[in-house]
Amino acid sequence: MERHYSVAIDGPSGAGKSTIARAAAQRFGFLYVDTGAIYRTVGLAAERRGIAYGDSAAVGELLGGLDIRLGHGEDGVQREFLGGEDVSGLIRTPEISRRASDVSAMPAVRAFLLDMQRSLGRSMSVIMDGRDIGTVVLPDADVKIFLTASAECRAERRFRELAAKGIDMGFDEVLREIVARDEHDSSRAAAPLTVAEGASVIDTSELTLAESIEAVCTVISEKLGVRP
Ligand code: C5P
Repeated sequence: MERHYSVAIDGPSGAGKSTIARAAAQRFGFLYVDTGAIYRTVGLAAERRGIAYGDSAAVGELLGGLDIRLGHGEDGVQREFLGGEDVSGLIRTPEISRRASDVSAMPAVRAFLLDMQRSLGRSMSVIMDGRDIGTVVLPDADVKIFLTASAECRAERRFRELAAKGIDMGFDEVLREIVARDEHDSSRAAAPLTVAEGASVIDTSELTLAESIEAVCTVISEKLGVRP
């Protein structure tokens, strides 16, 4: 039987995880799984239902009826479907970033999404990115990487991304949001963001995107003994 590999990439928001992980997955021919997008989809559902922030009982009730599916295009880009509707574009707003961070601190939400994430890793080789992939979702991953960058660098990248989408937010506000979300993701009791044991830490602050992709592919290649 063909061997399935699993690569866990964790790190704070804006470190470039999605872009880098997707590019690496394409090079190695692995499936790319963006787990943050799944939390965002739950966040969108909570937003649409008008649930108050922190109301875990209401979110718990919502989970039973949720139909979340993932699709992958030829280009490896993941799309998210909520009740059959493609919500991939709708989940990339500052409001849904806050929502995702809020619902992701709820143990019921994490438990609900755990099986879904693990089963994706069983059927083929995957590169999965998130906050707790190396620590909780795939603790036996063949490769664990922690991607990070300074808060200013991450805010600068997010600021440019939002501006390109026509979302008008000042740099200081973007930086504040990034720092607040890091704090929330790192201090929560359920699966906080931490460096997994044995993870290779890569700081992309001083690296271009191409250099970051190269650095990640080199670690994967060395650990797995396969070439991209
Ligand atoms: O990575 P992204 O910014 O899209 O993730 C959105 C939010 O989802 C994060 O701020 C974090 O709170 C949550 N998340 C998580 N665990 C993951 C992936 C994302 O808690 N594995």
